[in-house]
Amino acid sequence: MIPLALAATSDAQAPFVTRLAGAERRSLEESLCIASTSEDSLWSGPHGLLRIEHPREAVSGDIVLVRPAEGRLDRLLRSGSRHNSLLVTEQCDQLCVMCSQPPKKTHDVRFDLLRDACLLADAGMTIGITGGEPTLHRERLLGMIEEVLVARPDLSFHVLTNAQHFRREDVFRLKRPEYAKVVWGIPLYSADALTHDLVVGKVGAYERLIDGFAHLMLAGARIELRTVLTRATVDGIVDLADMVVRDLAHVEQWSLMGLENIGFARNRWSELHVDLRDDFAPIGHAIDVATLRGVRARLFNVPLCHVPEPFRHAAVASISDWKQRFGEACSTCRAKSACSGFFEWHPPLLLEAVTPL
Ligand code: SF4
Repeated sequence: MIPLALAATSDAQAPFVTRLAGAERRSLEESLCIASTSEDSLWSGPHGLLRIEHPREAVSGDIVLVRPAEGRLDRLLRSGSRHNSLLVTEQCDQLCVMCSQPPKKTHDVRFDLLRDACLLADAGMTIGITGGEPTLHRERLLGMIEEVLVARPDLSFHVLTNAQHFRREDVFRLKRPEYAKVVWGIPLYSADALTHDLVVGKVGAYERLIDGFAHLMLAGARIELRTVLTRATVDGIVDLADMVVRDLAHVEQWSLMGLENIGFARNRWSELHVDLRDDFAPIGHAIDVATLRGVRARLFNVPLCHVPEPFRHAAVASISDWKQRFGEACSTCRAKSACSGFFEWHPPLLLEAVTPL
């Protein structure tokens, strides 16, 4: 697993963002490496000296948030990675049964520092925004997105949101040209309101989500639908496919996501997990329904050998590099580079349940 938090010391009085300059320095907000060993590196920048307990080569080009009081830094945007996400809040107004990042009541929201990080991003980067529920801080979130995209039109955002906090008056704002670079990743778990509400642990969530879709549609927003595959969602997946092609056919993608064995799902694994090797038929049917009506359906976080051959084209090697893991038998698999593999925290038994292709 690639470490995202590192021990670091700095004399600065407050948290700050800097880019650990690689071969070339691109702005005055960057820090230059002035010494490095196999164990640590020393950097000089606008906030003084920064010592990182990691060698230069491993962090060069990263954009980091340094927390001097805590003696650590967070690697916010890693150079060359396709999987860069900013956690903007751990607060959430839902309590999903399989939540991988259970919410906290409070969170130190630092939009100004996150904006600074985005402005230093590598050219053309797509930056993920996650939570918690980012739109609980809707005004600050939209302000940050707009400020960054006006200054850096080469960047794009992918925002994970329950879409329940958009209002009719947001429609005009969301039509701004900057939002052509924003995709809203929105979970929808069932065509049945009660089932969706039970999955997300919130009464009325489905109704508010449908309103949210209406506002986003009026704005011409780009939408990726997301459905985590659990026992409850797989049982209704064909009905959900019918709803998607009927009412939400304009979405850019419908992503069917394998369950993560972390957070709330860890203790409910046996109740929630669906072994796709035994139970792919309804999912295959749903993919067919979507595909036949022109909706792109994709499978995320699912090993290729757990998917029947006719549907493997839909499986994406999606698990982020810092939390990706393979079984021992995978070393002989010719499809490994195209396979998502498993999450680092998946049960070891699953990692053994592979069939090299
Ligand atoms: S054997 Fe391993 S690498 Fe190959 S498809 Fe299965 S999980 Fe992926």
